[in-house]
Amino acid sequence: MNAVIIYDNATDNEEIRYGWGFSCLVDQRILFDTGEQADSLFHNMKQLHVDIDQIEAVVISHDHWDHTGGLWALLNKRNRLPIYACPGFSAEFKQKVRQCKGTLIEAETYKDIDEGVAITGEIPGEYNGAFMPEQALMLKSGKGITVITGCSHPGIVTMIQTVKRFYSDTQIPLVFGGFHLMNTKPAAIRRIAASMREIGVEKVGPTHCSGHEAQMIFKEIYGDDFIAIKAGHALEI
Ligand SMILES: [Zn+2]
Ligand SMILES: [Zn+2]
Repeated sequence: MNAVIIYDNATDNEEIRYGWGFSCLVDQRILFDTGEQADSLFHNMKQLHVDIDQIEAVVISHDHWDHTGGLWALLNKRNRLPIYACPGFSAEFKQKVRQCKGTLIEAETYKDIDEGVAITGEIPGEYNGAFMPEQALMLKSGKGITVITGCSHPGIVTMIQTVKRFYSDTQIPLVFGGFHLMNTKPAAIRRIAASMREIGVEKVGPTHCSGHEAQMIFKEIYGDDFIAIKAGHALEI
């Protein structure tokens, strides 16, 4: 399997635009999140030779503009595309998906999208004191379950523990995406990184809203098992 980072806060590729948000394409056909700006999303897809017509489904991690921003223009090009959402997303989001002629699929819990790809379903979370449910993407390979997160508002450790409930004796070779630790104190970030090691997360790629400080701490704790993730990067899973 492979994953291409379509949208992120950073890039090291001149041809690729960076912007606040996250989007990742798995095996050229399952899109996880859509970044903030549709024009940047499409620009990067073009540069990365993504065929929009080959996208089979979109998974939205959570109902925040920097993850849903490109969805509406994508639905404009691709009517009836299945959109995997959580039941707790806002009524506005669900209504807009229907208005834009997407096929809304709400997952309360674990759901297979196809043989190698599944979602956790809704994990309760919080953002600025308000309810913000979120789901993660799980990629099944010979190495175990790779987890991709949007912002991790429920907490990155809670998200991984949820994955572990579905696959108790599987390896977790890699977790990447937004860990949302921008406003978390260094000591707490260290505890989180240590818990992830303890749970058995082999490699980490904190990006998007993880924060610079968290990236430095994860790099220190994970050493060679820290993966720098930026828009335009491709990963073999
Ligand atoms: Zn975000
Ligand atoms: Zn968010």
